[in-house]
Amino acid sequence: MRILVIDDDVFMRKSISLVLQKNGYEVIEAPDGETGVELARSNLPDLIICDVVMPGIDGFQVKKILEGVEELQTTPFIFLTSKSDLDSKVAGFELGADDYIIKPFNPVELIARVKAALKRVQAFKQISTTDPLTKLPNRKAILEIIDKALAEMKSKQGSVSIAMFDIDHFKRFNDTYGHLAGDFVLASVAKFLKSEFEGKGQVGRYGGEEFVAVFPGLSCREAFELLDKTREKLSQTPFKWENTDLFITMSMGVSCFPDHGDDRTQLIERADTALYAAKESGRNRVVIYSPDMEGKNEG
Ligand code: GH3
Ligand code: MG
Ligand code: MG
Repeated sequence: MRILVIDDDVFMRKSISLVLQKNGYEVIEAPDGETGVELARSNLPDLIICDVVMPGIDGFQVKKILEGVEELQTTPFIFLTSKSDLDSKVAGFELGADDYIIKPFNPVELIARVKAALKRVQAFKQISTTDPLTKLPNRKAILEIIDKALAEMKSKQGSVSIAMFDIDHFKRFNDTYGHLAGDFVLASVAKFLKSEFEGKGQVGRYGGEEFVAVFPGLSCREAFELLDKTREKLSQTPFKWENTDLFITMSMGVSCFPDHGDDRTQLIERADTALYAAKESGRNRVVIYSPDMEGKNEG
């Protein structure tokens, strides 16, 4: 966890940093409001501790400016100041601060407050990135995971495979066994995929009965082998619902970086094109993207 400390008093700043570092936090320091805003934007810290009275822009202005930075919307912001009057405290909270601590601070209390603020944000992040039914990363979260994997592998000159999955004839399944059985199977398939991909990649729920997975470091061929094994195993795995063994199959499409594109949108689109080809050619199969599929998925 990285904490940005903004304070113009060098002794105060160092003593806050020291307490934080002793408790295992990484610290970035800013000697004034302007630098604080700049470092907040460029480093995206996990928490910000900010003085109020500073030359140049003061702590309240820092808070106001950072309000407009989207990536920092959920970052806890704590005022740590000698301004102890009620009006200032109220003004700080009205600006949306998570906490307001008066100097001189007690190190134990500061750490307790920092921990509490970080814990609230962690809980919120967990909820906002998890799909409630399958407990997998939701669409937004898995897209971010894909972006990170691509950025990492671009710098290492490695490959990344992206797979799109769609359950076969799931509408019919719902019509036959009911929506609750459908929900149960969706959650079970999610668990199955997660455990099959453990240590090799990550899977998220893309939408309804569609999943997307990312395999950093796997070439198309390697991803295909893993996916085909998974597909085969899934088709033979019973999911027990009200004493009945239910079976489903899945179609899968794969695209790879750098072979088929270098940005997330294009790779997903191409994995989806391959998925469509898998459906068209009979379902329950894995298909790798190829350029001659283009123009064939128009309906
Ligand atoms: P295909 O093999 O071509 O994919 O056929 P399909 O029936 O699976 O495809 P289609 O896209 O027509 O239907 C998807 C179905 O998935 C429709 C919808 O009822 C079902 N579905 C989507 N989300 C959920 C969900 O959260 N729970 C349940 N039970 N069903 C869902
Ligand atoms: Mg579908
Ligand atoms: Mg389907």
